[in-house]
Amino acid sequence: MPICFDLDGTLGHFSSGFVLLREALGGLWGITPTVEELGRCGGSTDWEIVDTLHQLRFGRSLDETDYAAYEAACLARFREAFAPGAREATAFRGVLEGMHQLAATHRVWLVSGNAPGLLAFKAKVLGIDPAIHRLGSLPRHDRADLLRLAIRNCPGPHLYVGDRPHDLAAAQAAGMPFVGIGEGVPGNHPILDPGVLAEHLVAAVETALGTVPSGPSGERDEPFI
Ligand SMILES: [Mg+2]
Repeated sequence: MPICFDLDGTLGHFSSGFVLLREALGGLWGITPTVEELGRCGGSTDWEIVDTLHQLRFGRSLDETDYAAYEAACLARFREAFAPGAREATAFRGVLEGMHQLAATHRVWLVSGNAPGLLAFKAKVLGIDPAIHRLGSLPRHDRADLLRLAIRNCPGPHLYVGDRPHDLAAAQAAGMPFVGIGEGVPGNHPILDPGVLAEHLVAAVETALGTVPSGPSGERDEPFI
């Protein structure tokens, strides 16, 4: 019964993340990808985004070596930007506390679009228990693929908690019910404020776990705040 959580925007946020991604690639590739080029990236994982930018820059797809270089460069930029005394990440304390409470009785995963090294760094900054499984962006996998990997060989029900339409779309593609955090993912599913209390997050997840989705066009629980 994996309960999967997205990270950015769901458990907290790291400001200027896409600026740091572009700067990291600029240092590697000699030319910083533009905001317009970033906007042409359709995927929601680091592999998908950097692969698209790589094709725009070099005319060929990313490979594992390119991806490892990106991951190391981006991690270095984040370590620098979020060093003690520099920028601070914002943690959604109630969501984080609720996730840890759920982890005491359920299998809980972080399933994020961040490259694995970056996900590990962000999880540590947010104080996430190392015992909680982490699954970051893998080569040639989209977010729905990552969710399928997290729930593979595990009995249901499963659930994904996220903050963006691409999280909802991935949950639907993987056949998982969904709980939204914030106003960025409207729909007919539970929606919680980022400042939610831990017990309300736990209650919403437990309720949604008892809901069997009937498909993208089917009926779901009424949304609530
Ligand atoms: Mg997110």
